Amino acid sequence: QRLFVPKELDANEPRVAASPDTVKRLTGLGFEVIVEKGAGLPSRIIDSDFEKAGAKIGSAGDAAKADIILKLRRPKASELKTYKKDAIVIASMDPYGNEGEIAAMAKAGVTGLAMEFMPRITRAQSMDVLSSQANLAGYRAVIDAAAEYDRALPMMMTAAGTVPAAKVFVMGAGVAGLQAIATARRLGAVVTATDVRAAAGEQVQSLGAKFIMTDALKDASGEGGYARELTDEEKKAQSELVAEHIAKQDIVITTALIPGRPAPRLVTADMVKSMRAGSVIVDLAVERGGNVEGAVAGKVVTTANDVKIIGHLNVPGRVAASASLLYAKNLFAFLETMVDKETKEFALDPEDELVKATMLTHGGKVVHPNFADAAA
Ligand code: NAD
Repeated sequence: QRLFVPKELDANEPRVAASPDTVKRLTGLGFEVIVEKGAGLPSRIIDSDFEKAGAKIGSAGDAAKADIILKLRRPKASELKTYKKDAIVIASMDPYGNEGEIAAMAKAGVTGLAMEFMPRITRAQSMDVLSSQANLAGYRAVIDAAAEYDRALPMMMTAAGTVPAAKVFVMGAGVAGLQAIATARRLGAVVTATDVRAAAGEQVQSLGAKFIMTDALKDASGEGGYARELTDEEKKAQSELVAEHIAKQDIVITTALIPGRPAPRLVTADMVKSMRAGSVIVDLAVERGGNVEGAVAGKVVTTANDVKIIGHLNVPGRVAASASLLYAKNLFAFLETMVDKETKEFALDPEDELVKATMLTHGGKVVHPNFADAAA
C-alpha cells in the first residue's frame, strides 16, 4: 500500500500528518510512504528527517499514486481531482456545515475517514485527535492570554511591593479547559472554572481550581461524554451565575463546544463591558461560532473598555511542532489497527467499530448516519 502525506494547502495550517517516528513505524508495517517536499517544515521536520525514517520525498502529484492519504484538513476540490478514485483519506473532516464539500468528496469516490468521529472508548484513546489537539490548544490559550496581559500572573511579593495574582476563569472544563487550568495554575494564577457536566467539577478541583456551578444546573452531560445544549432556563441560570463572576476576572478562557451544534454563547457584550481595562479573553471556540460576543475569528479585538478578545484560528497550529507529532501518532495508531500483524496485509474492514464510526464517505456515497441528509 502506498501512503501519501501532502503539504496542507490551507495557509493557516502548519501541521503535518506524519512524523519521522510514524514514518518509521508505517514502513515497518509494510507501507510505502511518500511525503510531499517541505510538508514538515512549518512543524520543524525537514525532508531529510523523513527520508532517514524511510519515506520518499515527492511532489503534490504523487497523490495520484496513493492508496491512502494522511492529512490534517478535508481535501479541497483541487486535491480530490488528483486522488485515485478509491483512495482512502484520513483527516479531520470538519463535516458539520460543510455538507456540500462532503458530498463532493463522496462523488470523487474517495473513502473519507473523519478522525473527529473516533469513539471515546479505551481502545481508541491513542487515536483521539480531538483530545491531543485540544490539550495543546488549552495550553496555548493561556500563553496567548499571558502575552497580551500587561500585568503579571503570579503573586509577587517584592521589596518594592506586592503584585497580586491574576484571576483566571476557564469556561468549559473538557480537555482544552483542564489543560488551560493546569497551565494557568503553573503560572501562579488564581483559577476558577465552570462546566455544565457535573463530572467536570471533581476534575477541576483536582487541579487546584475552584468549580463554579449553580444549583439550577444539575448536569447537562450528553452522549459520548460530551455536553448537550442547555434549555433556555438553564442558560439563564448559567448566565446569571457567570455575569457576577466575570466582572472580577482578569483573564477568561472559553472552550465550550457541543458536537454538531454552534458553540454556546457564554460571554455577552455586557459581561465584557463589566471587566476592567487590560483584561484578556481567549475564545477557543471562535471557529465554531464563538463563546464570546464580539470575538472575531483570526483577530485580536480591543473593545471600547480596553478588553482584548483573542480569536486566533487553529490554536493547535500555534504549537505546530508538538501538535504534528501527536496528530501523526493518532493517525498511526488508527492505521495500525487495519494491518494484520502476521501477514502485514492491509484491509479496511467496514464492520470494525472504529471504521464504522469514522467513515464519512465510501463507494461514491456519504455513508455516515449523522449526514443521512447529505447522502440523499
Ligand atoms: P468539548 O470540546 O466537546 O467541549 C468542551 C467543554 O465545554 C466540555 O467539557 C463541555 O462539557 C463544555 N461545555 C459545553 N457547553 C457548555 C456550556 N454551555 N457552558 C459551559 N461549558 C460547556 O469536550 P471535550 O474536551 O472533548 O471533552 C468532553 C469529555 O470527554 C470530557 O469529560 C473529557 O474528559 C472526556 N474525554 C474522554 C475521552 C475518553 O474516554 N477516551 C477522551 C477525551 C475526552
